[in-house]
Amino acid sequence: MEAHALSRSLKPSHYDLRIEPDIERETFDGSVTIEVEVNEPTTIITFNAHKLAIRSIALYDGQGDPVKVSDTGGDSMLQTFSIFLEKPLPPNSRLFIHQTFSGFLDKTGAGFHITEVHGSQTLSTSFEPMHARTVFPCFDEPCFKATFTVTMVVPGHMTCLGNMPIKSESESSVSTREKKTVEFYRTALISTYLLAFAVGEFNFVEFHDFRIPIRAYAPRSYDIEHCRYALGIAARVLIIYEQTFKLDCGLDKLDILAVPGSVGAMENWGLVTVSSAVLFISPDSTVTEKMSCAQLIAHEIGHQWFGNLVTMSSWENFWLKEALADWAETMAQEQLFDSPPWQEFVSEKMQKALNFDSSQFGHALVGPGTHLDFITYGKGISVMRMLAGFVGKDVFLQGICRFLLQNAYGNGDPGDLWEVLSQISGTDIGAAMKSWTNNPGYPVIAIEENETEGTITLTQSQFSVRKMGSTTSYPLFVEILTDQGVLRERLDEQPKVIKMHLKFFKLNPGQMGFYRVAYPIARLQKLGEEVCKGTLSVEDRIGLICDTAALAFGGHLGIRTSHLLSLLQNFEDETSLFVWKAIVATLREISKRLLFEDHIIRNAFMDFQKHLIKRCLYRKGTFNDHDDMGDLQFKALLFGNSGGDEKVLAAAGVMFENFIASDGKMLNPNIRAEVFEIVLKRGGTREYNKLLNKFEASTGSTRKDIIRALGYSQNNGCIKKTIQLATTPEMIADVGLRPALESLATHRKGIYALWRFIASGVWTKLPGLTLAKIALVGEMVLDCLTKIEYSEGARKYLESVDSNMLGSDAELCFEGIEVRAAWLERDREDLIGWLRKNGYYKHGATKIRRSMNGFRDALEYFGCL
Ligand SMILES: [Zn+2]
Repeated sequence: MEAHALSRSLKPSHYDLRIEPDIERETFDGSVTIEVEVNEPTTIITFNAHKLAIRSIALYDGQGDPVKVSDTGGDSMLQTFSIFLEKPLPPNSRLFIHQTFSGFLDKTGAGFHITEVHGSQTLSTSFEPMHARTVFPCFDEPCFKATFTVTMVVPGHMTCLGNMPIKSESESSVSTREKKTVEFYRTALISTYLLAFAVGEFNFVEFHDFRIPIRAYAPRSYDIEHCRYALGIAARVLIIYEQTFKLDCGLDKLDILAVPGSVGAMENWGLVTVSSAVLFISPDSTVTEKMSCAQLIAHEIGHQWFGNLVTMSSWENFWLKEALADWAETMAQEQLFDSPPWQEFVSEKMQKALNFDSSQFGHALVGPGTHLDFITYGKGISVMRMLAGFVGKDVFLQGICRFLLQNAYGNGDPGDLWEVLSQISGTDIGAAMKSWTNNPGYPVIAIEENETEGTITLTQSQFSVRKMGSTTSYPLFVEILTDQGVLRERLDEQPKVIKMHLKFFKLNPGQMGFYRVAYPIARLQKLGEEVCKGTLSVEDRIGLICDTAALAFGGHLGIRTSHLLSLLQNFEDETSLFVWKAIVATLREISKRLLFEDHIIRNAFMDFQKHLIKRCLYRKGTFNDHDDMGDLQFKALLFGNSGGDEKVLAAAGVMFENFIASDGKMLNPNIRAEVFEIVLKRGGTREYNKLLNKFEASTGSTRKDIIRALGYSQNNGCIKKTIQLATTPEMIADVGLRPALESLATHRKGIYALWRFIASGVWTKLPGLTLAKIALVGEMVLDCLTKIEYSEGARKYLESVDSNMLGSDAELCFEGIEVRAAWLERDREDLIGWLRKNGYYKHGATKIRRSMNGFRDALEYFGCL
């Protein structure tokens, strides 16, 4: 829903809040006194309240005298509650609104919610964006910053956490019946969405060597030692940020709480909540898991500055705090791991943003609603990076520091940041930034070369995954890398002719600009030769692959899949992990699109993949003690995507049997998931049962990897078992529903089974399964489909299951099906021709027809059920 602005004639300055949950009845009672400053005379007091029963209301003026109320009433649509007064309140006066109320504990993870995992209950809050109003009456908009004093009445044996340290606590008891009262210190000025509290039976570990105490808490059924990694990262990140931003974080303590069953994390002031699926790092965790955990912690702590200290004044600019927290996270990563995080960014996050933003569901960064998608978490940081590239890294950082200092404990919007950056750089930033933040989409630059004239002509048009749009007018400062240095040219709506040396050039060096580039085919070939010569940077090599892939998948500007594959052939000796990540993502995308095609074409493509990766795979070799984090990831990536290389298959088989026969310690954790995948994909029930037998005795990451791998088995009985196992409340809490089922979406039988599971509605009877979680699985299935006929059947199905299943995310998936179907129709023969010409397509005497069996098979599930 959209935010409805409350009147600015009143401004809350302090909340005195008392909450008493009743865990057995899953309800809570509360009282609140809100101190309000009256800016303008008014007879109506309107604030937010939703799903609450307001029991009593009493108003007092600044002298403590009662204020007479003539009427009250709620508006459930607007989620507001209004108090009407007999006489207007005088301006510049104070008012105290006292209310008592009660509500229900939530089970979907919003507001004040309860989760029960491994027999223990955890109560915690998640108020972003507008759920504080479901827990207490409040002025629930980010511009209304106030201080809070929170008191909780909770079972005596439980631990209670809040934004601030505890000020007083009545005696604890071991009895579950007796209650204690816990009072927290008054907070700094914060927005309602950052208020938080939690109750449960927790253990904690603590980090002492920082100015403020840092603790990690987890429910007692988890091993608290597995929080030590996150705790260490939190301390290091706080130090990095305080040094970089030259501003104290403003916290009196920092607690990080593991919440089972939650998704992602929330940056509450002083009490960061994190999904237990990400927070725990055990001795058998992989490098990738460690990196993900560190990135999440660095992001949430980044919010203590971006969002918490300086808050956007409305949800319209939600993207700003996310973009800056993403930027802070990436910067911290550089120092934490001594790795090049911007290369990883260009290879992954930026591509996801570019892909999403070229769909019809791309939207402007600024706007109503808080979108948790690749625009907010991808385009936002891309635009910041582009800006930093334009003004220079030092100027950008200086601007950020000034923005923080000027707006700390208050509100700060994009305009405020553009203003300080304009002041420091001496260039007007605002107008240019507006075209990037207030519009959906981005341009593609097409190049025409004229050899005789020695010129290139650049034209920009809107890039779309479906049909190319009209010309656009993004204010582009196009950088062109040539053998004589970098040229910077302004490109507007009109095509631009540039006279230059044509021996070598590449647009968008470092991939700093948020746009794609379409080269003429002959230039693409020359750039491929530059890859072999090693003259292009890592970012440039990634950009070349990803831009070409996006154009080939969309069928734009004359670029076909055969051109993409010819380009990829130049990367046999590629030495960068992040370039390989881009290559593997491209190969996987093509494989996925071929899932419902004949096995001959699929095998031919797999053969090409095997050949492409082979040289690098063998050169990198096996794991050894000197491997750093990058090496470990690199080797695992090649091993897991070897395209069925015989040596890899044999090695995986041996490693698997050793793992089964031993206590599991012999298997390098970084390759564990890959070994399970390789063996289960090719094995039968014997291998499945061996792994399943290991499951019960396993813990930590090994356990997660086993459940994630079981879905690769294509035996019907095994598939059924996998779904049963993945949908238990414990698995949903520890691994997450979608990650546990993802492997099923890699083969046809698994896809059908997942579809049947959704369509049958069995899930409605399973505890812990919400529509939102099931919808994610539904999207995963739709993302695999490649034929319009399936999509029609699927749409009918979803409608019959629940109309809410057809949200904009589902529509995005349907668009994806259309795009993939069109690509297959357009490039199937082109792909086969290329594979045949290069010796991968072995049965190519006759023209291949699509596999009727596979097709009929699929229709049965997606069309005719
Ligand atoms: Zn965030």
